[in-house]
Formats: sequence, C-alpha cells, structure tokens
Amino acid sequence: MPRIASAPSLIALGLAAMTTAYAAADPADPVAAAVAAVSPASVRQTVDALVGFGTRNTLSSQDDAGRGIGAARRYLHDAFEQCAARSGGRMTVTDDRFVVARNRDLPRAATLVNVVATLPGDEGPGGRVYVVSGHYDSRNSDGLDPTGDAPGADDDASGTAAVVAAACALAPLHFRATLVFMAVAGEEQGLFGAEHWAKAARARHLRIEGMLTNDIVGTSAYAVGPDARRLRLFADGVPGRPTTDAAALRRFATGGENDSPSRALARTVKAIGASYVPTLPVEIIYRRDRYLRGGDHLPFLEAGYAALRFTEPRENFDRQHQDVRTENGVRYGDLAEYVDADYVADVARVNAATLATLALAPPTPTGVQLVTAKLENDSTLRWNAVPGATTYRVLVRRTTSADWEESIEVGDATRYTLEGRSKDDLLFGVAAVAAGGYASPPAYPDPSAD
Ligand SMILES: [Zn+2]
Repeated sequence: MPRIASAPSLIALGLAAMTTAYAAADPADPVAAAVAAVSPASVRQTVDALVGFGTRNTLSSQDDAGRGIGAARRYLHDAFEQCAARSGGRMTVTDDRFVVARNRDLPRAATLVNVVATLPGDEGPGGRVYVVSGHYDSRNSDGLDPTGDAPGADDDASGTAAVVAAACALAPLHFRATLVFMAVAGEEQGLFGAEHWAKAARARHLRIEGMLTNDIVGTSAYAVGPDARRLRLFADGVPGRPTTDAAALRRFATGGENDSPSRALARTVKAIGASYVPTLPVEIIYRRDRYLRGGDHLPFLEAGYAALRFTEPRENFDRQHQDVRTENGVRYGDLAEYVDADYVADVARVNAATLATLALAPPTPTGVQLVTAKLENDSTLRWNAVPGATTYRVLVRRTTSADWEESIEVGDATRYTLEGRSKDDLLFGVAAVAAGGYASPPAYPDPSAD
C-alpha cells in the first residue's frame, strides 16, 4: 500500500474495506431489498420451464405450443409481463422481431425474436441505459439441428433465468437510469440477437453505460479449491484492432491501457457484488471472453459500449453443445439436473445489485482531468460537477495493481490534490456518489491542456 496524504477528508481503505462503501447495512436500502427478493425457487422454475420446451434451437418450431423456440419465447414474454406487473405499469415488454438472411452460419433465413423488458429511469429519453442479457436459444452436438433435444439448461437457460429474476426483483423500484432486460436469440449461430439489438441501439444513439451478459452461469460444481464458488467476469481492455477512438488513444498515451470503460465497470461490479452478495465473489478476468470464444457482449463492444460477460468458474464440456446420451458410462447433455439453482440465484443477485446500484448512482463524472500545467510530484484531479451527486470519490492504485487500492471520499468538491504522490507511479479514477452511497463507475482522467 503506498503512502497516503493526510488531508482530513481522506479515508484510505484496503480492498476488503473498500466494499463497505456499498454496504447494505441500511434495511431501507432498496438494493438490499432487491437482492433479497431473488429466490432459487423462481430461478429453478424458469430453467425447468425452458428445458421443458425440448429444444430452443434457432431453427426449431416457432408455432408448436409446447416444443421449440417459439414456445420458449412466448413463455419468456409472459414471465417478463409478470415481472412488469410489479412495476406499476412502468416496465414494458416487447418482442424485437427480425429476419436473418441465409448466410454462412445459417442454411436458411430465420425469424429471430429478442424478448426485451424495459424499466424506464427518471432521466428519461437521452438518459443513461444499463442492459443485461441471457440467450434463450440452445443447441446440441449439431448447432443446426431443428428437432433433436437440446435442453440448454446451463447454456443458457441459467443466464436467461438470472435475467428474469433480476427483472422481477428490480421492477418495483424507481431508478435514475433505464434498465433493459433481454432474452436474446441466435447466439449459438452467430450472436445474431445481441448484434441486431446493439446495432439498433447505436443507430438510435442510445446512451448505454454498461452491458452485462450472463452465459453459462449454472453451477460452480466443476471448479476446485477453496475459492471454487465464484463467478468469472470477462472484461475487455485494449481493442482487438487499431482504433481511432480519441478517448482510447488518450488512455493509451497516458498508460491507461488497463482502464477501459469495460474494466472500470468490471471493478465496480466486483465491489458491488462483494458488498451485497458475499457468498459469490466476482473474479475479473482481463480478457474479452474465454480463449478464442465469444458471447453476446461482443456486439455491444463492437458498437462502442462497455460490455462484460459473466460465466461460471469452470465449464464442463460434456454438458454443453452435446446430444443427450450416455457413452462408455459418461453422461452427456446440458440437463436441468446439473444446474444449481442456489448458484444461479446468487448470479441473479450480483446482476440485480449491480444494476440497481448503477441506476441509483449519478452519471460518471465528465471533464475529469489530471492537471499538467507544470511538472510536479503532486497529482491534482479536477472534474465537472455531476447533477445528483452529493460527494465524489477518488480511487487510487499502483500501475501494477489489478484493482483499486484506495478509495478517498473528497466530499462535495470538484478538485482534489494528492500531495507528494506522483502521477508517474499511480492510476486514478473519479466517481460520483449519490445520497445513500451509490457510486458511479469511475472516469479515467485525461491530461489537462493547461
Ligand atoms: Zn451460451
């Protein structure tokens, strides 16, 4: 831990203590109430219902009442409507329907439907939006088999169930930011559903401040060791190809390559999770996704949004993308019995706590700068006042540290100096905090022009 300055308003906290900044000690805390509202029984119900449709392959029946992706989609629409009934008419449920033409991943054109529940925030149109998704389509050994069983319990009824549970838990609450809960289709063939929605959002200039996808979040049973029960969170850093994004180029020019908006969001998610769901620690993986693999956050990253992926700690490849069968005494198939409803409920709680905290928080500060008027060993940060913020928080870490090491509450200020602490050696972030302690993700400072 580096030396800390001695300003009276400064509170230096270690990693464990930092999470108390979000602590749910107040019984009136709506975030704690939302977390408590998530039940394993409701998660189990959703997983079992989705598995019960036999297959949810993108090319399976749209019309059959009991089998295929159409029946699953109608079930999810109804499930979201039941959540919406708890919102006093504010949450709306829509079918985002579109046609994917025949392409190299799809042998024939297909109609796809994303089921989308929206809880509008008080910031209104043009305000911040947070998005959470799971994909409800499934597959077996043949990704284009329209009729064979493809239970898809872990991949990804688990993620879909977490999203439905979060939607129901948050529906009664009022937020500043808008929350969008999505069950998307066409993931297994090419992320079609997420890509369609993300591109439309970009075209509408939707101000998405963060996107979380839940994909294969069914169990920690295949992980080993004392920290087996955890949740991986994949967070992209440097773009995968050359960028012209001015903010990214300024970050790279100042050693901020580990401070992308996605990584800033991931550190925030981890801290919120530690505070509200201590039974399921979030482990950040500094990668876009699992090695050479992908998911529904990628189209959001491509559209320029901060986007993250939740996945269970250790996958079992006998239990996903497999025909249901027994071979040489080994059972294959993504069956409901291998999904742990208590685990998925905790995943839903991490999602709900994250979305609620961020949607109650003020926006991330703008105009955050490190003052560079002269060469000095002090570090002075300044920023624009944020509507709705009562205080601000300066986060500090060494360049070699993966996560924030200090959290400094600086009160209702728009400028703060860390005396004797060189910007050469440290990384900084500035977050806005609302009454109740709800903090935004931090902004990475630009160098000042003066
Ligand atoms: Zn999946």
